[in-house]
Amino acid sequence: MDHQPSSDLPVKIGLEIHVQLRTKSKLFCSCSADYRSASANSNICPICTGQPGSKPKFVNKSAVENAIKMALALNSNVNLNNAISMQRKHYFYPDLPSGYQRTSKPIATGGSLKDVTFTEMHIEEDPGQFELRDGTVDYNRSGVPLVEIVTEPEFKDPKHAREFLEELLAILDYLSAASIQPGSLRVDANISVAGNNRVEVKNINSFKGVFTALTFESARQKNLVKNNLPVARETRHFDESRGTTSSLRRKEDAQDYRYFSDPDVSYLILSESQIQEIKKTLPELPSEKRNRFCKVYGLIEEEAFAITLEKYMADCYEQVAKSVDSKIAGNFFRGILKKQLNYRGLSMVESELTSSILIKIIKMMTSAQITEKVAEQLLIAVLDLKADPQEYAEKNNLLGIQEQSTLNEIIDKAISENPQAVKDYLSGKQESINFISGIVMKLTRGKADPKHLQLTLKEKFDLIKKSG
Ligand SMILES: [Zn+2]
Repeated sequence: MDHQPSSDLPVKIGLEIHVQLRTKSKLFCSCSADYRSASANSNICPICTGQPGSKPKFVNKSAVENAIKMALALNSNVNLNNAISMQRKHYFYPDLPSGYQRTSKPIATGGSLKDVTFTEMHIEEDPGQFELRDGTVDYNRSGVPLVEIVTEPEFKDPKHAREFLEELLAILDYLSAASIQPGSLRVDANISVAGNNRVEVKNINSFKGVFTALTFESARQKNLVKNNLPVARETRHFDESRGTTSSLRRKEDAQDYRYFSDPDVSYLILSESQIQEIKKTLPELPSEKRNRFCKVYGLIEEEAFAITLEKYMADCYEQVAKSVDSKIAGNFFRGILKKQLNYRGLSMVESELTSSILIKIIKMMTSAQITEKVAEQLLIAVLDLKADPQEYAEKNNLLGIQEQSTLNEIIDKAISENPQAVKDYLSGKQESINFISGIVMKLTRGKADPKHLQLTLKEKFDLIKKSG
């Protein structure tokens, strides 16, 4: 899609990221914030459906604390002078029963992540869910606490935004202050190309979707600019299944929302000492853990980065690294483990893998009972069949690195059955050694030690060469 070099026309991207805060109840009432399991319109009350005469309760304190925790973890400045005050943001849409959304004044400003400055962060309530296809509304979500994180338009390209979100997601995972399940994160993006009009893209409902939406939209605008066509100032809708954006409406201004202070909600004043108390609850954050893993466990930066993106994985790694060679474990986590999880689209916590299972597999490998190839086979058996690695290895005859005498026979067989590969090698194609090696691995079901096999094959080929 992105066939034009991204440097030819400068792109500016800013993001508004909505994250659901992890709380028991909604922002202004006692309805559960866990709305997903409830049947439609059963998790509601007069407050969160904006019924006449209903008054909001005092703002949910744990929502505020979680939001402050996020701001502190992102090195944003919590505004102590401003008490937390709620405003009404007016607009009409069927998912908003009161005709306005309660949204706080900024609770924090400034700070940065991956060279992108945070403009501000504020708390607001989630609207209900409007189903465009049949016109039904489910208000179960109405009033669930959100934090909106607004950035300056400082992203250089979609990849930059993806890296930023990856790190943000890791920080949120570590804080346990926000819900990071699918549907909990929603992103609006504003994009402009070469100083032309800014376009807002709405309805990006996954972090993965952000990259697709930004790639499509920046290519679309670049095309217009290159063809001397105007870029309209508008709001566009992202269609995740198609990976495209389409025009929704003219862009609204802040004054279109007629913001004013909500007379029904009292101010919440946080003292400096309360903020300091919240600060004390901050856990070790991904970047800090990364540095420590490199120092303590001898990991290279890429390994530490891959392992610390998910807190559960980082915790498991640390358990494993205490029982086996920490560098071999690091290599296993970044390589085989990540590969197999990515292939299945699973996070480590979703995979239900435990550190004790991984210790078993890695110990079999370090005690030379199995090769790395077999270790991968065992991991697959654990993931897909919930097998016990030791039992599975015994049952399938995977234990024991192949004896040299049997290995020699198998190598001879592979060589004699593939004369072309030998000819290729003799004529200078070094990589045909990998072809034979692959065949041997298949025949031994991965039990041959790969390094040893490479050496043996090289010797054999050189012998053939000498004998002409
Ligand atoms: Zn309610």
